[in-house]
Amino acid sequence: MQAKGSKLWASALSEAAPTPYWTDRPDRPTPTDPLTTFTDADLAVIGGGYSGLWTALLAKERDPSADVVLVESALCGHAASGRNGGFCAASLTHGLANGVERFPDEIQDLERLGRANLDAIEAAVHRYGIDCDFERTGEMEVATAPHELQWLRESHDSAVSLGYRSELLDAPAVQDHVHSPTYLGGWWDRDGVAMLDPARLAWGLRRACLRLGVRIFEGTPVQRISKSYGGALMLHTPHGEVRAPRVALCTSAFAGPLPKVSRHVVPVYDYALMTEPLTDEQLRSIGWGSRMGLGDAAYRFHYYRLTSDNRILFGGYDAIYHFGGRIAATLESNEATFETLALHFFQTFPQLDGLRFTHRWGGIIDTCGRFCAFFGSAYRGQLVYAAGYTGLGVGATRFGAEVMLDQLYGLDTERTRLRLVRSRPLPLPPEPLRSAGIALTRWSLARADARQGRRNLWLKAMDYTGLGFDS
Ligand SMILES: Cc1cc2nc3c(=O)[nH]c(=O)nc-3n(C[C@H](O)[C@H](O)[C@H](O)COP(=O)(O)OP(=O)(O)OC[C@H]3O[C@@H](n4cnc5c(N)ncnc54)[C@H](O)[C@@H]3O)c2cc1C
Repeated sequence: MQAKGSKLWASALSEAAPTPYWTDRPDRPTPTDPLTTFTDADLAVIGGGYSGLWTALLAKERDPSADVVLVESALCGHAASGRNGGFCAASLTHGLANGVERFPDEIQDLERLGRANLDAIEAAVHRYGIDCDFERTGEMEVATAPHELQWLRESHDSAVSLGYRSELLDAPAVQDHVHSPTYLGGWWDRDGVAMLDPARLAWGLRRACLRLGVRIFEGTPVQRISKSYGGALMLHTPHGEVRAPRVALCTSAFAGPLPKVSRHVVPVYDYALMTEPLTDEQLRSIGWGSRMGLGDAAYRFHYYRLTSDNRILFGGYDAIYHFGGRIAATLESNEATFETLALHFFQTFPQLDGLRFTHRWGGIIDTCGRFCAFFGSAYRGQLVYAAGYTGLGVGATRFGAEVMLDQLYGLDTERTRLRLVRSRPLPLPPEPLRSAGIALTRWSLARADARQGRRNLWLKAMDYTGLGFDS
């Protein structure tokens, strides 16, 4: 299989453009003008990914008269929000299993709030006419090694206990849905996940913000924050300033103007491939009529899905951290990872021999020790932030935006009382311990996958301290 796979990926990748498929479209929005003056606002939002866009949009929905300014260093949606897998999950905890483990006392509330959040995203997509191919297909996790079957059973049992439409499938049943020689079983969460076009969601939210009167300044990095004489905060950018009494910092894993956030969050590169559209015959050869998102249950997992024109996005597996949290455009390409992904793609679907990839790209995930968002504040609560969504922020960022607005306006809500919101992951150690710890964790996870899921002493120690590493 290896030798055949190796030949397949070499030609399949040869013409893949090194750019995100989702943003490679002529109808992407024209950038707004950057900020070149001094301006006042009621609320300033830093960062134009989903986190910042939802914060600005919901602030206007809550109070249409509020003057909201959003400043984005490049283009809204150019980072993770415009280049992800497009799995929009209800989970606020990077999956049910992680939530059950870390927040057993409030998982029911978190799940209820997460489902309501996904419903609210669906409603907003319709309300604002956001054309992002939203399909609430659910997601099926597949076992490709015998020990993973037990994990699927546990997830199914948790889902059933929460009253979800959940299906546990044995090998023949899962093959009825999607034909792959690697599948041994599956767990299908029928309606907790929607598939969408991530860039068109970001652009649609941006358009909705502009329509409601949010003032967006792209090409405007915030370099420094200070306190003004009147008590408001000042955002300093290369050619202008914003003065606002309230600020939401939504800069994800980027080293933003508040260094303390970086103690808890690390940038990790995740990679994906996109195929050309499948012919009807190729599609028939794999089934997949229900069009659900797919992911395997391994620690180093792949995620994959169909697009509206029946391409397959295939990503994940490698999660790569660079010493010192380095972020650079050159790191968005990683030939070794692309080749590994292509090889695994054809191992999953050997019947698609001859299919070619049109795009290959990478992007930054803001992982933290507990894999789900944490919240914090600075300047006596005038600035709030949310970060650490890891690889599941498409849906959860909207919930995080609600939390940040509750906090900024001093509201005591069910959301702000959650332990998820009040607690924080442990800070990650500084370099070089940070790199060494992440490398050891990656090695241990690969080893656990190869050894029936058995976690070594290092992973057990991490479990004990509540620290982890994931994508
Ligand atoms: C390859 C890949 C696949 C993924 N797949 C999925 C998936 O299928 N499902 C899922 O739920 N999640 C997925 N994710 C994660 C998801 O994309 C993120 O959780 C989500 O987009 C985070 O949104 P955000 O707004 O916090 O961050 P971002 O989208 O990174 O936005 C942060 C913004 O802040 C701006 N910024 C930074 N510093 C400054 C500054 N100083 N001044 C002004 N602006 C600044 C940046 O330019 C950027 O636009 C994936 C991520 C990647 C990379």
